[in-house]
Amino acid sequence: MKQSRFLVHTYRETPRDADVVSQQLMMRAGMIQRVAAGIYDYLPLALRSIRKFENIVREELARDGCQELLMPTVQPKELWEESGRWNFYGKELLRFKDRKDTDFCLGPTHEEVVTDIVRKIITSYKQLPINLFQIQTKFRDEIRPRFGLMRGREFIMKDGYSFHVDDADADREYWVMFEAYKRIFSRLGVKFRPVEADSGAIGGSFTHEFHVLAESGEDAILSCDSCEYTSNVEKTEAPRLPFAYASEAELALQPAHFHTPGIVQMEAQAKAFKLPLDHASKFYLYRITKGGVTSDIGLVLRSDHEPNLVKLKNLTGADAIELAPLADAEKLAGAPSGFIGPVELDVPTYVDRSLEGAFNLTCGANRDGYHHYGFKPGRDLTRFEGFHDLRTANAGDVCTRCGKGHYQAFRGIEVGQVFKLGTKYSTSMNCNYLDEGGASKPMVMGCYGIGITRTIAAVIEQGHDADGIIWPWPVAPFHIHLLSLDAGNPDVSAAAGRAERELEAAGFEVLHDDREGLSPGVKFKDADLLGMPIRVVVGAKGLKDGTAEVRDRRTKEMQRVKFDQLVDAVRTAGQRF
Ligand code: ATP
Ligand code: MG
Repeated sequence: MKQSRFLVHTYRETPRDADVVSQQLMMRAGMIQRVAAGIYDYLPLALRSIRKFENIVREELARDGCQELLMPTVQPKELWEESGRWNFYGKELLRFKDRKDTDFCLGPTHEEVVTDIVRKIITSYKQLPINLFQIQTKFRDEIRPRFGLMRGREFIMKDGYSFHVDDADADREYWVMFEAYKRIFSRLGVKFRPVEADSGAIGGSFTHEFHVLAESGEDAILSCDSCEYTSNVEKTEAPRLPFAYASEAELALQPAHFHTPGIVQMEAQAKAFKLPLDHASKFYLYRITKGGVTSDIGLVLRSDHEPNLVKLKNLTGADAIELAPLADAEKLAGAPSGFIGPVELDVPTYVDRSLEGAFNLTCGANRDGYHHYGFKPGRDLTRFEGFHDLRTANAGDVCTRCGKGHYQAFRGIEVGQVFKLGTKYSTSMNCNYLDEGGASKPMVMGCYGIGITRTIAAVIEQGHDADGIIWPWPVAPFHIHLLSLDAGNPDVSAAAGRAERELEAAGFEVLHDDREGLSPGVKFKDADLLGMPIRVVVGAKGLKDGTAEVRDRRTKEMQRVKFDQLVDAVRTAGQRF
């Protein structure tokens, strides 16, 4: 492919509105252009990478018998009402009316449509299981579209759905897809982790996210350094920590023991009490909504620990949870922030399990300027709801699975997710089958997503340097960037043209920078920015002794090779990727 004819324009300057490296580099390399917030053109260079990744996904899914179909982007309201999501989905669902005033939405995901297909065609256990997928444009009206292709409003997703006669078969397929995802991301050539993730109140390990590891990732991951346990910190089990001061004599509650007026900050209070932070407790008041009913609950934690709202939400079965407004908490306690505590409050109060066995703690006294001492949660709370794992685990905590290793912290970009759905959609939408005995049963479903365009951006987040992108071979737009340095010189352009044809004949994809009138420096800079795995340079100087230069984008290693050995040299260099 001649670069002079190829739709690519590079930019020296980093665009001002690009916040992350992948977005900056993709814009500078002329891969994407912004059309509106979270909506981009995928220009030819980007589309080549996208299509390559899609094909990896297709090949691996085909190995497991998944069938590709294509569903519409525009979906009727009726289907979403059947599943109950028309009202539930919130503003991410872009709704609109057609000319007849009929309601539609742009599909953010396709459970409804695929369930509608399957219920119309599949009636018997003999037709199950089935696994269907599509690769298609999705639309989610994200509240804060940002980071280029990583969190767009319009993006390409692979979404797959499977249907089964029972839980056991859905579980089997879950692990088949789990393995397929491992193969897909291994083939990409990136560092990634399957991560146990929150699946809401269902609990169990019914969902894994796949994360590409990158500093810029939005998600925090903890991974044991000794066993396989890796999880999203939203969900990571925190170990029970022993009370470090168990040798002290246990006191009864000492009401309003400490008087530290005006000292509201926790560290400063602990200092004034002459007690370490892990000897103090802290209290939060949350407002939960459950089945349309709103109520308040309390949470007590060691004061050096952080609450985990996902855990608290799952434990209480709440649909939504947020901090109660400060004014309401102060009114309930009758004291200002900094002196609010759990004792004598008439709210169900949950306590983190690292405080099981703890005593002689401090807590706010619900009186301005005062703290209690000698607090023991199980003994002193009015509506004690037990000890549970409710804190956020930390790097360095002992792993709860193996009991030996410690958690290490990583940041990740969620590029895929496998999820066991159960019968949520099949029940609400009457997607049933007849079993061997002729009884009608709802199908058990699983769903499996991969963010195609987000993955391409994640590859760049992980693979770049100060000069530009460093593509892994499998999704590089081209394998080789062939630079013809003195393109105006007929001998050079003839030699470069020959090299292009020979390399292409050998099966390599070549972008041939045949542009005339540009300095070598400009061409080198562009080649580094675009980041193809191998750069081949043909120039007047090398032509004199019949050689071209071959350079590895990752290691920057260079070698001079004779023209008749160019294909072999490139093949060898390519094998290192
Ligand atoms: P997130 O938590 O990042 O918003 P999600 O969990 O809502 O994502 P899923 O419904 O699991 O997303 O969608 C499957 C995949 O689609 C995700 O793993 C992710 O790779 C991709 N994806 C989701 N939202 C976006 C987006 N706004 N832009 C680009 N890709 C996205
Ligand atoms: Mg997800």
